[in-house]
Amino acid sequence: MKLVFATNNAHKLQEVSAMLPADYELLSLSDIGCDVDIPETADSLQGNALQKAQYVKEHFGLDCFADDTGLEVDALGGEPGIYSARYAGPGHDSKANMAKLLLKMQGKTDRHAQFRTVIALLLGSDTLFFEGIVKGTLLAEPRGTAGFGYDPIFVPDGFNETFAEMGDEKNEISHRARAVEKLVEFLKKQ
Ligand code: IMP
Repeated sequence: MKLVFATNNAHKLQEVSAMLPADYELLSLSDIGCDVDIPETADSLQGNALQKAQYVKEHFGLDCFADDTGLEVDALGGEPGIYSARYAGPGHDSKANMAKLLLKMQGKTDRHAQFRTVIALLLGSDTLFFEGIVKGTLLAEPRGTAGFGYDPIFVPDGFNETFAEMGDEKNEISHRARAVEKLVEFLKKQ
């Protein structure tokens, strides 16, 4: 069964395809000839994931799933959330995003945050959502060099290292892995 993952991120594709039942063939956006930067203009992670999956379904007629992730900080009312990739503005990188976040967190005693991934799956006429959350705390200074995004300032609950100090262990406990596990569990039952 062909199933599109609305991404071209090789790491994400490999991670998911290793977990999928053997009768699923996972296709990326480039595999189906989709070279458009699919708009993500919704006001929630769920809305953005659905928007991406719907684009593929409408234009290519294929079953599809898409993910969207955000870092949600309690003391900032859930910011940066859907703006995680572009918190410091368009054209800025992870360093700038982290710097902006750390500045906003100066003097805040509540440093609780969570990474949340939402996957939207369009299968036949069904629409389903799968969510993965990792709760943790934000440091005041980055630590570690692995990973990407906000990894150097995020310490998951139950650990002493940041995501950026962890290596492969992160992929086993991450928000994305948790959402993907739920998706795979569902697909195995189909
Ligand atoms: P995406 O939806 O997977 O593209 O993630 C959106 C943004 O959230 C990324 O550009 C990162 O800034 C941040 N992000 C997502 N996942 C992670 C993660 O595992 N670690 C750190 N930052 C992440």
